[in-house]
Amino acid sequence: PLAFSGTDLRKVYQTGETEVHALRGVDLAIPAGEIVVLLGPSGSGKSTLLNIIGGLDRTTSGTLFYRDLDLAAMDDKALTRFRRANVGFIFQFYNLIPSLTAIENVRLVTDIAEHPMDPAQALALVGLQDRQHHYPAQLSGGEQQRVAVARAVAKQPGVLLCDEPTGALDSATGIRVLETLARANRELGTTVVIITHNAGIAAMAHRVFHFLDGRIARIEVNAAPVDPA
Ligand code: ADP
Ligand code: ADP
Repeated sequence: PLAFSGTDLRKVYQTGETEVHALRGVDLAIPAGEIVVLLGPSGSGKSTLLNIIGGLDRTTSGTLFYRDLDLAAMDDKALTRFRRANVGFIFQFYNLIPSLTAIENVRLVTDIAEHPMDPAQALALVGLQDRQHHYPAQLSGGEQQRVAVARAVAKQPGVLLCDEPTGALDSATGIRVLETLARANRELGTTVVIITHNAGIAAMAHRVFHFLDGRIARIEVNAAPVDPA
């Protein structure tokens, strides 16, 4: 089955007099349970697509489904409900609350989620069982991002959407973050979509969508994705 399917997705941003055509007709098929990487130059539409499939933004036209849910037909309230129930976000900067410990940051999500994981278990999944009571400032960048992964995974979302998750990290640290995403995919069956500039990350994906000028110019299918290491 498909996690996301879309037809002729278009997005036009209107800023004053100028129109920016960020998506110019994207047909989308993201199989459930896969890791999909969005690769391509800056400005080619990757973040726009990620925000739209995550319910943070809307298309200008086109059809878009998450499983059998028609995202294009939802009002804002329904879209928020969709997001809360189904989507975990990971951004380049970790967005942790500095006055809360690692486990308290994860509890922010598990306290309100429908089917949460135990917060300590989520931190163990990312290898931070010994850092539960540390504050963000006491953690390295890579550890902070792993807390962000734990927080996103803890509500057991169907999909994890990651916008440059290793963009602020050196490569060794970034790899540890990617390992946690691969683990969530493998052990929980979570569909993972990752935007990156790093072609090396593509090796861990089942599928790579190459973006160019608001379109998916090429799809690469990887029969044997390798664990990041
Ligand atoms: P990528 O993620 O591949 O770098 P984006 O999706 O961020 O590309 O951007 C695609 C195009 O849309 C770019 O030309 C960008 O400047 C434009 N764009 C993105 N967000 C907005 C916005 N909120 N308002 C106006 N233009 C935007
Ligand atoms: P909520 O579940 O409270 O509705 P959202 O689903 O809107 O939260 O967003 C999930 C998380 O991503 C929140 O922590 C939100 O602040 C953060 N977020 C949303 N959009 C962006 C963005 N463009 N950049 C950074 N963080 C964002």
